[in-house]
Amino acid sequence: MRAALATLPADPDRENEDFAAAAPGAAVLLDGAGVGGAETGCAHGVAWFSSTLGALLLRSITAHSVRPLAECLADSIGLVRSLHEGTCDLAYRASPTSTVVVARVGAGALEYLVLGDSSLLLADRDGGTTVVTDRRLDEVGKRLRGRVDALPTGSPEHAAALAEYRDALTGLGTGRTASGSPVLIRGRLNTR
Ligand SMILES: [Zn+2]
Repeated sequence: MRAALATLPADPDRENEDFAAAAPGAAVLLDGAGVGGAETGCAHGVAWFSSTLGALLLRSITAHSVRPLAECLADSIGLVRSLHEGTCDLAYRASPTSTVVVARVGAGALEYLVLGDSSLLLADRDGGTTVVTDRRLDEVGKRLRGRVDALPTGSPEHAAALAEYRDALTGLGTGRTASGSPVLIRGRLNTR
């Protein structure tokens, strides 16, 4: 397996909130996210969150090669929680979250999991490409973001609409659901 990794911070003056890593037969990619302009309640920050979760996740999917990817993700989220629940407010609205893409090769098949708006591209043998994306963020954005933008900034109505939007985003389970079972796009492809 060949691996090439490249990430860039969204802004050169800010920390890189992306994390990508690979091991033989396994790869993870996370795009950390806070909601723009919001406090996160976490003293560590979004870059710490995505890199710590990503590293723990890569460890989990390689150390436990037959454990389902969703369970490896739940374990890793639980570990990240335990690292900062004593110091940070994890119930805070808009606490750090992350997209997650995981892929693992084993027993002649590729398993994958996609959570949030990062995409997995699968190259077919015949030269085609299959894109795997979780579209739920788009749906929430379409449904609620327009109202936030239409209301005057600083008004109580704007604050309430923004809070509802943040709750909807974080409620998708992008990284903060330690024990819940977020709906994930999961798949399995034969590689033989
Ligand atoms: Zn923290």
